[in-house]
Amino acid sequence: MPGFEFFSDLERQEVQDVLDSGILMRYGFDAMRNGHWKAKELETELQNKLGVKYAQLVSSGTAAVSMSLAVAGVGAGDEVIMPTFTFVASFEAVMMLGAIPVLVDIDDTLTLDPIAVEKAITPKTKAIMPVHMCGSMANLKALQSICNTHNLLLVEDACQAIGATYKGKALGTIGDVGCFSFDFVKTITCGEGGAVVTNNKDYAINADHYSDHGHDHIGNDRGAESHPFLGYNFRISELNAAVGLAQVKRLPEFINIQKKHYTILREALSKLPEVSFRTVPEEGEESYAFLSFFLPDLETARKASAGLKEAGVDGCFHYYDNNWHYVRKWEHLKDLKSLYPISTEVKEGLKYLQTKTFEQSDNYIGRNISCLIKLSWTEEEVKIRAQKMVTVISSVL
Ligand SMILES: *Cc1c(COP(=O)(O)O)cnc(C)c1O
Repeated sequence: MPGFEFFSDLERQEVQDVLDSGILMRYGFDAMRNGHWKAKELETELQNKLGVKYAQLVSSGTAAVSMSLAVAGVGAGDEVIMPTFTFVASFEAVMMLGAIPVLVDIDDTLTLDPIAVEKAITPKTKAIMPVHMCGSMANLKALQSICNTHNLLLVEDACQAIGATYKGKALGTIGDVGCFSFDFVKTITCGEGGAVVTNNKDYAINADHYSDHGHDHIGNDRGAESHPFLGYNFRISELNAAVGLAQVKRLPEFINIQKKHYTILREALSKLPEVSFRTVPEEGEESYAFLSFFLPDLETARKASAGLKEAGVDGCFHYYDNNWHYVRKWEHLKDLKSLYPISTEVKEGLKYLQTKTFEQSDNYIGRNISCLIKLSWTEEEVKIRAQKMVTVISSVL
């Protein structure tokens, strides 16, 4: 997945353009910037590559998730249904708005189970937020239909799935709003950065203003611009955008390499009848950023994970025992360990976490191992890796 592996002269040149002009900010200073608008150019590239009308770059993926909800009006006391398997950023972003993350079970897609989603809907539910973990996707058809029936927003956290598609459309562009991360370990990196994408013009305008203190960006005197509503500063810098601009042009190349490496590993593991692979919804195509598979039970997965580490096969995650990606280890959320007081609404809204169990998610995450697909491997290295994986996994079965 990580684009940083291919950091090259292309990135250096884009950054050098910014350093030469000295204009590190994405707005204003028109006369001094030698025609360089890296953030704007990257937004246009994203719109073209993803086939979406609007893209707003921001300072991080976490900011992008928060903004995706904020621009569509999600806020205090609203419930956002999201999966038990995601990066902590997804619920942090919900809570930043005073909204309530409602965690529900995943299924064998490793993302939201539509049946669990339907059961979790209450009069306070405002949005359903699938998180397309590890380069693949939720059953968007089922989720879209639930959203239509209950008049809810569909917000896609596609931070780990740039380049994946569903029915020929880029993930992130299917719901009402979508978001991406360009942090250091994502498929495309800006160092730090993120994007909100949408086909909804009002949401796009909201994103443009909200990410820059509410500035309406009309005219060329920042001090004279008006502020139609409150905002924050989630701006990306030109330096970060410049890196991403070089990277995004290579997205199709990155995805092709991932696919090649993924396919070699998958074919090797397919020979083991005890190994099954995550379900990709019909008409979906992964970004091949990870190869995710299931073993027969938790103990086997634990042994395989330890064995892979011992054999030097790095980048394979057993998320059940990981502190950041699965509900089982989120005590800081369950115990509401906040630096500052949390609203009564959110406290009440999160009480369910004291008692709720997630057996179905435990079953899938307990048995799952997801292996990062690197870009920089040679074909020979991938083949050796495949062989090592087969040997280790066979030995624990
Ligand atoms: C990386 C990630 C984020 C947050 O992105 P940052 O740019 O690191 O803030 C949010 N959601 C998911 C699923 C992620 O993987």
